[in-house]
Amino acid sequence: MAVLHNRISQAELKKLLYAETEPRTTISFYQYFLVDDPKQLRDDLYKALTQLKVFGRIYIATEGINAQISLPVKQVDAFRAYLNTMPPLHHIRLNAAVDDDGKSFWVLKIKVREKIVADGITDPGFSMQNKGSYVNAVQMNTLLQDDDTIVIDMRNHYEYEVGHFVKAIEIPSDTFREQLPMAVDMLKDKKDKHIIMYCTGGIRCEKASAYMLHHGFNQVYHLEGGIINYVRQAKEAGIEPRFIGKNFVFDDRLGERITDDIIAKCHQCGKPADTHTNCKNDGCHLLFIQCDQCAAEFDGCCTTECQTIFNMPLKEQQELRKGIDKGMMVFNKSKKRLRPRLDEL
Ligand SMILES: [Zn+2]
Ligand SMILES: [Zn+2]
Repeated sequence: MAVLHNRISQAELKKLLYAETEPRTTISFYQYFLVDDPKQLRDDLYKALTQLKVFGRIYIATEGINAQISLPVKQVDAFRAYLNTMPPLHHIRLNAAVDDDGKSFWVLKIKVREKIVADGITDPGFSMQNKGSYVNAVQMNTLLQDDDTIVIDMRNHYEYEVGHFVKAIEIPSDTFREQLPMAVDMLKDKKDKHIIMYCTGGIRCEKASAYMLHHGFNQVYHLEGGIINYVRQAKEAGIEPRFIGKNFVFDDRLGERITDDIIAKCHQCGKPADTHTNCKNDGCHLLFIQCDQCAAEFDGCCTTECQTIFNMPLKEQQELRKGIDKGMMVFNKSKKRLRPRLDEL
């Protein structure tokens, strides 16, 4: 890997990828399982996946594996066969990306980390061996009809804001590590209720389910494959989705509409709106919700200040960013949690 990096630049790698004619597909998967020797697994994977022309980023920790990769379509069967040689990854669910051109990665990076999902848990007694029960879309809808069911959204605020399951409770923190103890505290009188946790792709709520069980909750479920899989299953089963609004996704669209309900409001005028956008001022880039009318009025910016900067000649904008770099950073810092982070997927 190091050799490859030294010899070929990122730009050249990207060029090679675009010159490639065989179709690629982007997939993601994760699995919590005990990895005795993460470094060994990394080396083994690197050898095998390089042969299959896999690109992407993979994290390995003693608690498991989390991967977002692209590979030639014709290698998918071979890839699956390779995963099946490892018992913990036997018949693992591979999630295909929506609207995919397969050009998402142009190099393979496999990193050993302390955790596959940062959780801030220091309790040595906690383990991912004891997880909640999986529910599929049909089971989810059935459980939702029960008054004794509590649904917990384990995503970030900006995701919950535009779409969530009916009855879902938000855990009001911007970070997963803060949400875990908060969820335990908020539900401490509800230890015998059915508790369903969900997130976008399932990796966070699976950990959260184990954390709740560890803290004495008795009936904990988590949505298998997250919202993405739920929506697909609901369509296949012909059942009505109980998720309303938009599912925030990390691509150019910043959201996939599930139902016509618009449950959020424009951050500028307060009218119903659920379109996320990044402030057009490159020195700001704040992620926020803006209605069409405000988008026109503010030129896609979050404030008149940003609009003024956005409408300056590019050179002046760059000068300005140099000059008040520090101020901008503080501004960004206070807002930075509004931005999606890939590792929180
Ligand atoms: Zn507006
Ligand atoms: Zn702005």
